[in-house]
Amino acid sequence: MYPWLQVFQNQLQVSFAQQRFHHAQLFHGLEGVGKGALATNLANALLCVNTQDTLTQCGSCKSCNLFSAQNHPDLFVLSAEQSSIGVDEVRALNEFIFHSAQQGGNKVVVIEQIEKMTESATNALLKTLEEPALKRYILMTCDDLSQIKATILSRCNKVQVNIDDNHQIQMWLGQQGINTSLYPWLETFCDQPLLLQRWLTLGILDSVDSLWKVAHDIVRISDIAELDSELSKDPSLLNVFSRFLMNVTKQQVMNGQLNYVEYQHCAASIEKFLSDHRSVLGLNRNLSLSNLVFGLQSAMKQD
Ligand SMILES: [Zn+2]
Repeated sequence: MYPWLQVFQNQLQVSFAQQRFHHAQLFHGLEGVGKGALATNLANALLCVNTQDTLTQCGSCKSCNLFSAQNHPDLFVLSAEQSSIGVDEVRALNEFIFHSAQQGGNKVVVIEQIEKMTESATNALLKTLEEPALKRYILMTCDDLSQIKATILSRCNKVQVNIDDNHQIQMWLGQQGINTSLYPWLETFCDQPLLLQRWLTLGILDSVDSLWKVAHDIVRISDIAELDSELSKDPSLLNVFSRFLMNVTKQQVMNGQLNYVEYQHCAASIEKFLSDHRSVLGLNRNLSLSNLVFGLQSAMKQD
């Protein structure tokens, strides 16, 4: 368990001991803060046959072994790897919940990034959330709460996973081999430690650095293909690049290089780029990048 998640784990254990534990939990917060790890840990605890009453896992019972082999028959996972979660998958989930547990205990469903659910998938899940069944738990994660329907939100216990001890994170990152003074932008991601760890593992910290440099030199960028190839190295990089661009734009307003109207043009270009990537399947990224860069350049061009 990551050290910064312990506080959330403790709170959940207390609510479980006091029999206030909600059958549907929604963990929300930034990408890479550890929501998935928290849900996975909790799922393991809910399935453990030895120490389940304290919401911890023993790590040695049959159930824990099945869990670590990723082969537990009473666990159903809809993972974040797919681009959307459709109604058929949620129907399969509902079916899973309906049948009795093979190990005789709890049954647990984990749905990662519920913002990826289609409208009909959301409606199918709603019915299950409305009619909680005994010994059935639904653990969900979400990066962006604003994309979730109020009807879903009102039917689960929302847990905001965030980081309030930067020192602890710096220590942990150091142990992983990430020195936060390595790059000027690294410290901005201290509240997304697992994202930094992933970039380290993938060997793309240098790519993030070059995106940061491109963002600061956006008026002179002409090689869209090269930018496109940097961005294709990890799905998280689109958001990161947009965030860098947004920061640069704000900085230029502060320095008096951009007026309010120009700033609005820039912000709209960045927002359009992001929303296109969220909603348009099979998007021509090269074209959408060209539009973004051209939009920013024409707003930022000094005369
Ligand atoms: Zn166990």
